[in-house]
Amino acid sequence: MRSESDISEEEHMASGLFDLRGNVAIVTGGNGGIGLGIARGLADAGADIAVVGRNQDKSNAAVADLRARGVRAIAVAADVTDKTAVADMIDRVGHDLGRIDILVNNAGINIRKPPHALELDEWRSVIDTNLTSAFLCSKAVHPVLKAEGGGKIINIGSMMSIFGAGFAPAYAASKGGIVQFTRACACAWATDNIQANAILPGWIDTDLTRRARKEIDGLHEKVLARTPAARWGAIDDFAGIAVFLSSPASDFVTGTAIPVDGGFSIMG
Ligand code: NDP
Repeated sequence: MRSESDISEEEHMASGLFDLRGNVAIVTGGNGGIGLGIARGLADAGADIAVVGRNQDKSNAAVADLRARGVRAIAVAADVTDKTAVADMIDRVGHDLGRIDILVNNAGINIRKPPHALELDEWRSVIDTNLTSAFLCSKAVHPVLKAEGGGKIINIGSMMSIFGAGFAPAYAASKGGIVQFTRACACAWATDNIQANAILPGWIDTDLTRRARKEIDGLHEKVLARTPAARWGAIDDFAGIAVFLSSPASDFVTGTAIPVDGGFSIMG
């Protein structure tokens, strides 16, 4: 993280606890859905952004959106399940944007099948994309954050970090795992001044859940009925929590898993 002495008096006065100017954030899957909502929030707080994804058209559109907010933004094409691609991605961001302060492990997929119908390659694909990717990216960025005096890691879990779901065994395993992985990093890297936290989204309107609504009968109505806020979440609902967990406002907050769900997880 930038040290106090790097920040001018004027900048400091204007800044406050939630100022991310001068910081660089990597957002995996930042080219759409929740990742784009997070990237926009961080950009609006002043952070420069590296968007990581496989689909170059989507990434280019996201970069244009972020640059229009007045920050530097780049697209890095990488498959986050690939160790070499992840190492190259971290090098590229450091080279092009000069530093790294924040890593958001958001890339994720789901394959909806009960355990008895799920194939091993499908299991591996979901675990690799949702959980192993967070390990690879966090491990690769750790020496950079440590050398800079600290940083922030945000992992994206799910309601299935908490609840069971017969139709998503690998997804639920990956999202339960992401909470425990977050706690492991929080413990291991606390004295490096790196805070690691998880966000657990409720039901959010994105490409991922648009497909779910087609695959699961009555899902739309069930979500509305169970969510106290009586609506689906929007990608912009993730801007505030991401800024908080990326900023000095959360410097003594680590290892948590915070639901952003309109109250879904507290309904009895
Ligand atoms: P989207 O499908 O809209 O976005 C997923 C993103 O992940 C895409 O931008 C995609 O980019 C990227 N991605 C997937 N696989 C890879 C890969 N191998 N390498 C690099 N990037 C990859 O989904 P959401 O925005 O809904 O989901 C984002 C996160 O939030 C996921 O972790 C999901 O599990 C979680 N979540 C979502 C909820 C919801 O209701 N929507 C609820 C709870 C959790 P590209 O196609 O370019 O590779």
